[in-house]
Order: sequence, then C-alpha cells, then structure tokens
Amino acid sequence: MDLSFTQEEESFREEVRSWLDENLPPEWGHRGVGGYREDDDEDLQRRWQRMLHEAGWLKLGWPKVAGGRGATPVMQAIYQEEMARAGAPEILGRLGVTLLAPTLLGHGTQWQKDEYIDRILSGDLVFCQGFSEPDAGSDLAGLRTRAERKDGRWVLNGQKTWSSGAHYADKSFLLARTSTQGEAHKGIGFFLVDMHQPGVEVRRIRQMTGGGEFSEIFLSGAEVDDRDLVGQPGDGWKIAMAVFGFERGGLAQAARFERAVGELAALARNHGAGSDATTRQRVAQAQIDAHVFKVIGLRNLTRVEHGHPPGPEASLTKLYWSEMDKRMQELAVALQGAYGALAPESPFALEDGRWQYGWMWSQAETIYAGSSEIQRNIIAERVLGLPRGR
Ligand SMILES: Cc1cc2nc3c(=O)[nH]c(=O)nc-3n(C[C@H](O)[C@H](O)[C@H](O)COP(=O)(O)OP(=O)(O)OC[C@H]3O[C@@H](n4cnc5c(N)ncnc54)[C@H](O)[C@@H]3O)c2cc1C
Repeated sequence: MDLSFTQEEESFREEVRSWLDENLPPEWGHRGVGGYREDDDEDLQRRWQRMLHEAGWLKLGWPKVAGGRGATPVMQAIYQEEMARAGAPEILGRLGVTLLAPTLLGHGTQWQKDEYIDRILSGDLVFCQGFSEPDAGSDLAGLRTRAERKDGRWVLNGQKTWSSGAHYADKSFLLARTSTQGEAHKGIGFFLVDMHQPGVEVRRIRQMTGGGEFSEIFLSGAEVDDRDLVGQPGDGWKIAMAVFGFERGGLAQAARFERAVGELAALARNHGAGSDATTRQRVAQAQIDAHVFKVIGLRNLTRVEHGHPPGPEASLTKLYWSEMDKRMQELAVALQGAYGALAPESPFALEDGRWQYGWMWSQAETIYAGSSEIQRNIIAERVLGLPRGR
C-alpha cells in the first residue's frame, strides 16, 4: 500500500486549489460544521453546480470518449478532498449527477443519454430519487408502487417517501412494480418520471432540523413513455444495484471530518472544557477516529487503483463515518452544557446553532444509503462469512 501522492497528483491538487481560490466566493465556503450544510440555499447550490459544470469538474472521472477527463480514482479523491477543505457548498442536482448520470452512461439508451446527461450535469434538469416507500426501505424489493401498460404508455400508481429534493425536482428516477409474478425483485422497472404532471403530488416532510429536504410523492395515474423506461421492464433491481454502487463512496468526507475535529477542539477550548480529563479524552478520540477514517479511505482507494471494485467492504466505510459523526456531534452539544439543548434558531444558541443542527442531521446519516444494521448484516455475511440471520 502506497499512501504518498505522485508529482502529477500533487500538481492536480494545486490546479483544484487555485481554481477554488479564484472561483469559490468566500461567503459560500465553510457553511455549517466542517463546511457542510444540507439545507443550503437552493439558488446558491444551482449556481455552484453550473460553475463546476462549465469548468468540467462534474465529468472529472468520466472516460474521455464520453467527454470526461478520465481522471484516476486518486485524482477524484483529491478533488473531493479539496472541495471539502474549502468548505464548498453542495450542488443542487447531486442525486442526478452522482447517481443517475453514471447509471445512464452504463444502462441508458442512446436517446436517454442524449436527452438527459448534459442537462443533468448543467443543473437545467434536476432529478430526485423515488425508491423508498412507507413499507419498503431496507427491504426495497417489497415495494408496491405499480406500473401498468395502458394505451402504449406506463401508468403509475402508488406512494414514495423520503425523497430528497423532490419539491424542486423536475424528474424522478423511480422504481415501480411491472409484474407481481415470480420473485419480488425480478418484476421491478426503473422509470424516469416527469414530476410536473397532474398525476404527481409532492408533500414535503418537516424534519426535526426545521428543514424540509425530503418529501412524500403520491402517484395517481402518472404517465411515463416507453423511452423513459431504463433497461427492460424487469431490469429495475439490477439497475438500482448499480445506483447503490455509486452511493456508498469513500474518501470524500475525510477532509470534512478533519476540519470538524479542529472545530470541536476549538469549541472545547473556548468553553473552558478543554482542561476536563474526560472531555480531553473524548476530543482526542474524535481525532483518532477521523484519522483512522482517512486511512481506511486511502486503503480503499489503493484497492480501486489496483482494479479491485470496492465490494462489501464499502459497508465498513459507510458504517464507520456515520457512527463516528454521530459521536462527534453528540460531544459538541455536550460541550456546550445547557446551551447545547437550545434549538439551532434560538438567538442564544452558540455559533449560530450549527452544532445542534449538525447533531440533528447526523441522526439521519445512520439511516440513509443503508442503515447501520443493514451495513452490519452485509459485513457479517459477506465480509466475515457468518450465516444469514433470520
Ligand atoms: C436524510 C434521508 C434522505 C433520504 N433520501 C432518500 C431519497 O432521496 N430517495 C429514497 O428513495 N429514499 C431516501 N431515503 C430513505 C432511506 O433510503 C430509507 O430511510 C432507508 O432505506 C431505511 O428504510 P426505512 O426508513 O423504511 O426503515 P426500515 O427499513 O423500516 O428500518 C427500520 C429499522 O429496522 C432496521 N432493520 C430493517 N431491516 C433490518 C434487518 N434485516 N436486520 C436488522 N435491522 C433491520 C433498520 O436498520 C432500522 O433501524 C432517505 C432517508 C434519509 C434519512
């Protein structure tokens, strides 16, 4: 395992840094803990996406034949690290850019690639993800939304939930049941659904952070053309698995956590808690956790560089960072004493309530993209070879 960077990689890092220095407006950087905030201003996120797209960053890892730069996994990790270090905001169409566009590249028809990919990257077309349902989250194959053929089109009826960004999305990549015969996961289709049609109703869900990033989607006779079915009517499960492969990424958060630990230590110092032995131990442990996370990320990167897919070990990464973040955020609110119990928007909340916000948000991290229990099941069965639980 080689953890050093080549000369070429170091120059690439310089290139990303100077682009950020010139283009990231200072007031856009470092929002929230470790520079991360999910409920950022939509307009800002849309403008940031356009800037990244125009500079070619959103196709960094794409093959050159597809108009990308063909960057190696290490270069992509460097890019992610520098974005996090600069505290760059999220992009509005992140689900379309990071999950759908690469999926279409592999599984879409030529028409779908021509119609959607450029508009997804530029932010002209924003997609949300319509997978989960009230009774189908971890057990996604149990989904019940129906897609039936009527007059040469697909007609969808059912309910989706927890769909991030559905309230501003133009389209959704959505799973619906095309057949109730045979095995559950073989009768699912992957559809691109227009969100601005009469058969689609979006109801926002208010979260405990006060934000409303996700929504319920009610489908009552929503229509989809054949050309917006990705793959065959029974291919949805296979395509969804490809989507998940893009979801459980690795090193991207390491720089964010390093920064968050620095902020945590400052919080401990500023509030006089730094001399307390237990607090010192906990802050030091957070530093160790963040460092271990970075090393795990580098090890995964080395595997990918040597042509090995991330594999079920990706579950270790997801489990590790999400549980670590919860511990860090919990320590931060504990350090604030009674102030830690204030709502983020309270005028008396310390540091604009960003730690309270971060603590509340971190509760979601061990649920989405596969909950901690599901990750532990995968590790037990597929990494350690333990028998399947009942
Ligand atoms: C912030 C956020 C954003 C999201 N965005 C989207 C989105 O854009 N699109 C979308 O489709 N979905 C989205 N989701 C939904 C997410 O994918 C689901 O919440 C997740 O899959 C868990 O499903 P569930 O909520 O139905 O919980 P359930 O699956 O009902 O699980 C409930 C509890 O039981 C545990 N459990 C379930 N099965 C097992 C098992 N076999 N063994 C052990 N324990 C088990 C779980 O770990 C959990 O603790 C989002 C969720 C969050 C929190």
